[in-house]
Amino acid sequence: MSEPRNIVVLTGAGISAESGIDTFRDAGGLWEQHRVEDVATPEGFARDPELVQRFYDARREAVQRVSPNPAHEALAKLDAEWEGELLIVTQNVDDLHERAGARRVLHMHGELLSALCARCEARHSWSETLLDQPACPGCGAQALRPDVVWFGEMPYQMERIYAHLRRADLFVSIGTSGAVYPAAGFVRDARELGARTLELNLERSEGSYWFNESRQGRASELVPEWVKEILTPSV
Ligand SMILES: [Zn+2]
Repeated sequence: MSEPRNIVVLTGAGISAESGIDTFRDAGGLWEQHRVEDVATPEGFARDPELVQRFYDARREAVQRVSPNPAHEALAKLDAEWEGELLIVTQNVDDLHERAGARRVLHMHGELLSALCARCEARHSWSETLLDQPACPGCGAQALRPDVVWFGEMPYQMERIYAHLRRADLFVSIGTSGAVYPAAGFVRDARELGARTLELNLERSEGSYWFNESRQGRASELVPEWVKEILTPSV
């Protein structure tokens, strides 16, 4: 088998869970005791914006108190040393990949530390509360919402993700249950387009069947092992 050049890595809740971040598993689940419909849909936000802002204010504050774990650090090392193409597509809204030092990261579900203006559609780095309706630094409107993709909204930068999947010869899925689309479909797309596919997850997932290889265990152990493997030239 030839050496891979172009890698797409998909990361999900499992990689952040080991840093102490709680996320929902899928639609219909609970997130910090809230129903996903109430805090992660446009309808929920329209119904009770205060509840939703309070919820994300708490998540935004919590994310600033946790640290990247060895899985994030290993991917940052891969990013620094991999000379081929690499894209780390994350479903996570925390900034732990970046804080570990990774640069080639795409947040398909948005970011907690960003605010999106519903009026002018500008995005602003944001680490404070949104509950008190601060003005948008761009247009002045008091229309800032969390810059996260809710159920029923289109994930970000899908064209760029598919462009990378088309060129990928290795697709690696880390800590994701394979239950939330469109990310759950990436493995099939990558395979059909000719990539080898590898899953690193705590347990076999709904999508395990689609992978060429599936390894079970903690991300903080499996990811450093895999990164070491791929960065070691084979003889
Ligand atoms: Zn604005």
